[in-house]
Amino acid sequence: RIHLLLMDLKSLIRDVPDFPKPGIVFRDITTLLRDPDGLKHAIDSFTQKFFHAGINADYIVGMESRGFIFGPPLAYQMGAGFIPVRKPGKLPSAVYCIEYELEYGTDCLEIHQDALHPGSKVLIVDDLIATGGTANATARLVKKSGCDVVGFGFIIELQNFQGRKNLPNVPIITLVEYL
Ligand code: AMP
Repeated sequence: RIHLLLMDLKSLIRDVPDFPKPGIVFRDITTLLRDPDGLKHAIDSFTQKFFHAGINADYIVGMESRGFIFGPPLAYQMGAGFIPVRKPGKLPSAVYCIEYELEYGTDCLEIHQDALHPGSKVLIVDDLIATGGTANATARLVKKSGCDVVGFGFIIELQNFQGRKNLPNVPIITLVEYL
């Protein structure tokens, strides 16, 4: 427990300037994932924070593609199921689709129509929140499925984008913050 509190996750996240384009600092979590103590710390403290916030979910919904990395171990620890939200054309069965704004133009996210049982409690997980556009679109997919979003979890929050303002009023758990 003390070990959990003292570990510096931020030092394991690599900053890559000018990726994927000039002016963007990419927060690379692959360097955190490959570190055995870092990976354990990230998943365990994520799980603990949700537990202490009193959040219980039937399902974790994770977005392509780094939500697929952190969602399933959290679901496993919480005794929940995991459901993927994907880019268009990837899911094989019937889908709901939500369009959302990008910097230039729009994109779309999809979920299987029969993935969520209506009335379920859902926790949305991704590696990082910036503007909150991706998480907001995912929350709309969950509502379209007849379910309630009970919380959000992000390893990293880029605070200057104020993404929280774009999310419904439920608990938001983050592990590492940047201004
Ligand atoms: P947003 O929809 O603006 O909140 O962007 C969040 C999504 O974009 C997440 O799926 C992130 O993985 C990705 N993302 C945005 N900005 C960064 C960044 N600076 N470093 C790494 N990933 C990013």
